[in-house]
Amino acid sequence: MYYSSTRGDAEKKTSAEAILEGLAADGGLFVPSEIPQLGLPFVEAMLGLSYEERAEKVLSKFLTDYTEQELKDCVNRAYNRGNFDAAAKKRAEVKLPEDAPFPVLELWHGPTSAFKDMALQLLPQLMSTALRKNGVKDRVLILVATSGDTGKAALEGFRDVPQISILVFYPEGGVSRIQYLQMATQEGGNVNATAIRGNFDDAQSGVKEIFSDKAFNEKLAADGIRLSSANSINWGRLVPQIVYYFSAYADLVEKGRIKMGDAVNFSVPTGNFGDILAAYYAKCMGLPVHKLICASNANNVLTEFLTTGTYDRNRPFYKTITPSMDILISSNLERLLYHMTGDKARVKGWMDGLARTGRYSVDPETLAKIRDTFAASWTGDDQTKATIHDVFARSHYVLDTHSAVAWHAVEAYREETGDETMTVVVSTASPYKFNASVLEAVGAGTEGLDEFAMQDKLHEVSGLAIPRGLSSLRTKEIRQKDVVDSAEMREAVTAFMKKQD
Ligand SMILES: *Cc1c(COP(=O)(O)O)cnc(C)c1O
Repeated sequence: MYYSSTRGDAEKKTSAEAILEGLAADGGLFVPSEIPQLGLPFVEAMLGLSYEERAEKVLSKFLTDYTEQELKDCVNRAYNRGNFDAAAKKRAEVKLPEDAPFPVLELWHGPTSAFKDMALQLLPQLMSTALRKNGVKDRVLILVATSGDTGKAALEGFRDVPQISILVFYPEGGVSRIQYLQMATQEGGNVNATAIRGNFDDAQSGVKEIFSDKAFNEKLAADGIRLSSANSINWGRLVPQIVYYFSAYADLVEKGRIKMGDAVNFSVPTGNFGDILAAYYAKCMGLPVHKLICASNANNVLTEFLTTGTYDRNRPFYKTITPSMDILISSNLERLLYHMTGDKARVKGWMDGLARTGRYSVDPETLAKIRDTFAASWTGDDQTKATIHDVFARSHYVLDTHSAVAWHAVEAYREETGDETMTVVVSTASPYKFNASVLEAVGAGTEGLDEFAMQDKLHEVSGLAIPRGLSSLRTKEIRQKDVVDSAEMREAVTAFMKKQD
């Protein structure tokens, strides 16, 4: 198996190379030369296994240049070091709330309480193994611009990983109090979180400029440093996400909720289209999936695309109570377009259109093919809160805002289609990451309460344990104090790397 760009065939890479490089040279995304067709026996073989063993099986089908032992080591370092909740033996747990119509796949038992841990605990291990395998002697600097969740999950994943350093830029005053504390208290010898005077776009354009600044990159190369990125278009972030769909299915069979071979649907709260695309790969590999429900918030560019075939980012941008889905360019959709058409020239044409005019339209046949698998709907903030309220009232189960969007999407989908297939709601964050919205939704007051008082109150109301990583923020020392102008980000990089030798 090899990896090449969604936009052309100029490059052929091993998976280790694709993971180290992140993005193809022509601006496209790396895709595998084939998707292994494994059928039901592969799913059956998952029964009774630990999450780590399931992960090894899935990874070995795509990362064919890694040895079995290498994958085993990576997986164990990612998931089996005690940084996932001890109670969640399976790491990605399927919960069956009482009297609830849908099982919930909880993906937030990692160290930062968001589903990004599932991939960002593993990606650094895959990267550092890739460096070793490919005999790369350079030090790698991971640069991240974050509006919140990704930054912390990346810091935690890369902390103290040999031969790699990580520098995260976030907008000063532009992240939530919890997100700020999560990053500012970050420990590790190879990490830095720097606030920039500016907004998220300034941080992101600053990072992009650094990546494309040839002179600056040559200067770094002369010092034995190469830049890389950990964002969600990296193949090494996508492939770990395929695992939990298989794992969830096996769990449902083990719990007697479905029989082996029964079809299930998944409803996925979607931003960059990475999580739901991983479910599509699982389906192609043989997991019995009927529909994938793409759940969006008021930034409903994907709902429109999956309904009409036109992707148009020229629209107002809304700040919602589901900030991790406040996104107008869903980068991983490019991979789906490739797999649906097999036509790289056409994908390139659409992506050029997106870059030039902010929009593109696919042909009716492609849309029909996509709609065979994908359904879509979007939920506004009020309905999201009402959903949290109703689910809590009926089942005493607390959804975070993002997961509530996915929950409501299934209700809307069922109403529209009458499809009663067992549908799993994918839950992407702990409710303790969004205390204020969740408390308001369940009808508890928040006035005058700071984040920690809100944590306590949510605990009182719900009885749900506060994740260790979030409760410990009360007493942790602030270690990351750097603040720079957005024009000084290169200097921040240079200064940080001086300290890394
Ligand atoms: C990142 C994120 C999402 C969106 O996932 P994509 O893979 O970008 O579609 C949804 N919910 C939460 C809590 C997230 O952090």
